Amino acid sequence: MKTIGLLGGMTSESSLVYYKRINEIARERLGGNHSAKSVMVSVDFAEVEPHMERGEWDRVLAHMIAASKAIERGGADFLVLCTNTMHKFVAEIGREVTIPILHIADATADAIKKAGLKKVGLLGTRFTMEEDFYRGRLLEKHGITALVPEKEERERVHKVIIDELSRGVTNAASRDAYWRVINNLALRGAQGVILGCTEIPLLVKPEPGAIPLFDTTEIHARAAVDYALA
Ligand code: GLU
Repeated sequence: MKTIGLLGGMTSESSLVYYKRINEIARERLGGNHSAKSVMVSVDFAEVEPHMERGEWDRVLAHMIAASKAIERGGADFLVLCTNTMHKFVAEIGREVTIPILHIADATADAIKKAGLKKVGLLGTRFTMEEDFYRGRLLEKHGITALVPEKEERERVHKVIIDELSRGVTNAASRDAYWRVINNLALRGAQGVILGCTEIPLLVKPEPGAIPLFDTTEIHARAAVDYALA
């Protein structure tokens, strides 16, 4: 079994889920007292997030590179960035470590293709929804088109992630707002919706008869165990 390197703290609410799920999935796969071998380096989100909001990306990247190198030194065989947004820096981080990075959008694209879908909605931070690093990869590498919500809805989705979900707060009004956004994406032709921020699955769960949701935390955790055991 390979050792999974987890870059956590982005945020700690979803890092908990990653840690829990990789161990549960490893036990399901191997039985008995098995668990996943892992190394986690967890950043303090409050030292990173203000730089994101101010667009000081070099400062954000410095935190990601330092954490990734520490994970490699800790003995990880590959790197799992436990956040969609930080995949913005996959190329830059990849130049600083020798271990491979298991890309969350590739794992998610595999799940979408397995479901037979080609056009999906994408919810995430403002950066994930608006920049090209995520949607571009889905389209160019996987032929999947990702629609994003309208501007006002994107701001609401982003604010809920940063001000509520990252702090462990889930509330019914935000859940309703997210479902309105999801339904609007469906009306525009989305066949499914990517929960493209690792905290969103804490707020929104798939509902029977509703549009399929792609939980990137679960998908990424499962891909990590698959890779570790391959
Ligand atoms: N966990 C989130 C994501 O998946 C947002 C927090 C962050 O900015 O890293 O994008």
